[in-house]
Amino acid sequence: MPKNDPTTDPALRSWAEGAGDAGADFPIQNLPYGVVRRAGTGEPFRCAVAIGTSALDLAVLHEAGLFAGTPVEGHNVFAHPALNAFMGMGHAAHRAVRARLSVLLREETPDLRDNAALRDRAFIPLARAEHGLPALVGDYTDFYASIHHATNVGSMFRPDNPLLPNYKHIPIGYHGRASSLVVSGASVRRPSGQTKADDADAPTFGPCKLLDYELEVGVYVGAGNALGAPIPIDRAREHLFGVSLVNDWSARDIQKWEYQPLGPFLAKSFATTVSPWIVPMDALAPFRCPAFKRAAGDPSPLPHLTDAADRERGGIDLTLEVHIASKQMREQNAAPVRISHGHFRDMYWTFAQMLAHHASNGCNMRPGDMFASGTVSGTTPDSRGCLLERTWAGQGKPRQPIELPTGEKRVFLEDGDEVTLRGWCEREGAVRIGLGECRGVVVGADATN
Ligand code: MN
Repeated sequence: MPKNDPTTDPALRSWAEGAGDAGADFPIQNLPYGVVRRAGTGEPFRCAVAIGTSALDLAVLHEAGLFAGTPVEGHNVFAHPALNAFMGMGHAAHRAVRARLSVLLREETPDLRDNAALRDRAFIPLARAEHGLPALVGDYTDFYASIHHATNVGSMFRPDNPLLPNYKHIPIGYHGRASSLVVSGASVRRPSGQTKADDADAPTFGPCKLLDYELEVGVYVGAGNALGAPIPIDRAREHLFGVSLVNDWSARDIQKWEYQPLGPFLAKSFATTVSPWIVPMDALAPFRCPAFKRAAGDPSPLPHLTDAADRERGGIDLTLEVHIASKQMREQNAAPVRISHGHFRDMYWTFAQMLAHHASNGCNMRPGDMFASGTVSGTTPDSRGCLLERTWAGQGKPRQPIELPTGEKRVFLEDGDEVTLRGWCEREGAVRIGLGECRGVVVGADATN
């Protein structure tokens, strides 16, 4: 990414409503992509960008000829209910469209600003927008890239040997279930499954008792690779489209009984919530930071996972939070409480390393595939990105519940709990950008909705 990319220039201002509001997630420097329609209309979903307090229908802009001269000119890739066709066009096309949108939305450009009829067709206030899944995700892979998370979880199960010997050599992951990805706002039903208490002789089947969230960041693949053609780490950048928030809901009791020897299965596949907006990698450029600094004595990754530019700029300085509001809190109009606060720069592996690793055996990635980072946890208790770690008090000690403003206590999630993830990037000399929110309410195992 050239340092002079004009789309992230902090001096840019937009005429669009709300784009200049203090603390706005979607200023003109962001321009995240999603899929929307007017709520309650049943009209087809279309590709859009978020700007200020609105979604901007890109299919309408395309029909109006506003992408003339860009690589998307000949085919309205935005008149689809998913971003895959656009994602697959590759980084040069993404940059050209972003550059065009940035010009159209800046305060001095009249084309859309002064065309009220076109604005009426193209703008959908976010308050009245319904989101679809931004991409048709063919494959979803969940990594385990936080060494703090891996160490904490490992400590619970293997106090003497928390981190397995492969951890510092390969980005560990498992294949997630793409069919149960849902977009922010969808309720999540408590799963039922097979569990076995430590003191029981046999397993039983029933509703999960230890339901958890996992605070994660997802990255979507743009251009894919052919089967048999690995992606070298120094080319990974060209294949990464953008990032969003991911809540990898987890049933800890089901997980504990099923995870050996092949890893998580039904404990994870019942639902995964993604945020509606995908922040382009180009919008993140001002917030790239060095990759995690390995401790003295840690092994260097093998050459196919090593790249000087990635060490220097492969991290993302992204702040993340988890908020919770119980049903009782919402009924009392109590504000959600923040129960976790972490930083994505604490991840041991970068997205480029995850992609290069994933494709290193020749496995083909397709446009719209998603990788989630794994739970983002830091070194302090309040930076732990799931309740499994958050309420853990140490080996052999009882879990420490989190107390809510209503006096309710949480060790794991209860029915009616609403979990909201947020994330944003902020730095001196750059305009703050946000990822929006990733929200879901837990409903009971026998709920009918
Ligand atoms: Mn996970």
